[in-house]
Amino acid sequence: MKKNLETLCIHGGWRPKKGEPQQLPIIQSTTFRYETSEQMARLFDLEDEGYFYTRLQNPTNDAVAAKINALEGGVGCVLTSSGQAASFYAVFNICQAGDHFVTSNNIYGGTFNLFGVTMKKLGIDCSFVDPDWDDDRIRAAFRPNTKCFFGETISNPGGNVFDIERFARLAHEAGVPLIVDNTFATPINCRPFEWGADIVTHSTTKYMDGHAAQVGGAVVDSGNFDWEAHAGKFPGLTTPDESYHGLTYTKAFGKKAYVTKLVSQLMRDLGSIPAPQNSFLLNLGLETLHLRVPRHCQNAQRVAEWLEQNPHVAWVNYCGLPSNKYYALAQKYLPDGSCGVIAFGLKGSREDAIRFMDNLDFVSIVTHVADARTCVLHPASHTHRQLSDDQLREAGVAPDLIRLSVGLENVDDIIADLRQAMEKSAT
Ligand SMILES: *Cc1c(COP(=O)(O)O)cnc(C)c1O
Repeated sequence: MKKNLETLCIHGGWRPKKGEPQQLPIIQSTTFRYETSEQMARLFDLEDEGYFYTRLQNPTNDAVAAKINALEGGVGCVLTSSGQAASFYAVFNICQAGDHFVTSNNIYGGTFNLFGVTMKKLGIDCSFVDPDWDDDRIRAAFRPNTKCFFGETISNPGGNVFDIERFARLAHEAGVPLIVDNTFATPINCRPFEWGADIVTHSTTKYMDGHAAQVGGAVVDSGNFDWEAHAGKFPGLTTPDESYHGLTYTKAFGKKAYVTKLVSQLMRDLGSIPAPQNSFLLNLGLETLHLRVPRHCQNAQRVAEWLEQNPHVAWVNYCGLPSNKYYALAQKYLPDGSCGVIAFGLKGSREDAIRFMDNLDFVSIVTHVADARTCVLHPASHTHRQLSDDQLREAGVAPDLIRLSVGLENVDDIIADLRQAMEKSAT
């Protein structure tokens, strides 16, 4: 039976059989026992399926991955130990030294460093493009060795909306897949595969968990990209893997080639798996995702409208405001709401912004977003402090930008806290 998102949030991935626990069990075991050497050998020969070591597969992790896969509408999903690991694996699964990829410059600061600094050290080059450039300028960034395009549905922290359909077209014209980080929108508000994206990544640390309880990530494969049609570009998928029985992923696994390679090669060798305990916590969050996300959006909409008409506020960036540059794109891709994260700037100096944050009561200064608790961060003095003002602007972050992640408290209380802190700090 085809189920709707709300039902998948509750029932996806785990269906207890007779006498089994109603709640997803935490299988906190590194390994799994077999009765004969022959049984174990058959697993390694790929003649039988079964669990043997949690780095490769674990029943708790797999159940939660299956739920996220169902929510996004993919053919397979792998959980990772963090969103950073998910972004790295998603690209590294199809890029090796000497390759290149193109990425939106409106992305999370951690991803910006991963792509622009650390992956360059591995010999994987990337070009940052501004998604507002016209098609020809974007096309000019593609090279013969380009292997994918990367963007965020709603950028963290700028709140820009990514034109998924357009970038899917540009990526496919160049014969490469589009990878979309769907962390902020969540599958409740947007399912990028429906707009042509090929791979989706998540930091499950954010709304999917929603309670600041665990750090995790996910990579989901739509199964739609035709690797064989561009076989020369993707030898890792279309030629035999000598480290894995000489199998060719596209031939042996068809639509699941990409996700199977990610587990059997990258997880095997790099091992960024989540603890089953963390996957259990993530699953508790997912059970209410469909209730929490709309409330985050409603609260954020009210707060954004209040900020916009507030005399202390210089500017507000929230794609749910009709005045916003990305309003039309948000109406197209996020008709039910975008997310709870607002970017805004206060009038006055950097110090005024810092005083405002210090005067807040329950709204907390934390390096986190997308949590039940409302929180703020000033990227220029916190997460992005290693970037110069020019680099900040290049990453779509204004030096005076305050990132406000609107939580699930009473919205009048949230506004009252912001108001008293602004009034106290106004010079
Ligand atoms: C937080 C975040 C990440 C990184 O995820 P971690 O779980 O912190 O490693 C990646 N992308 C986006 C959009 C994020 O907000």
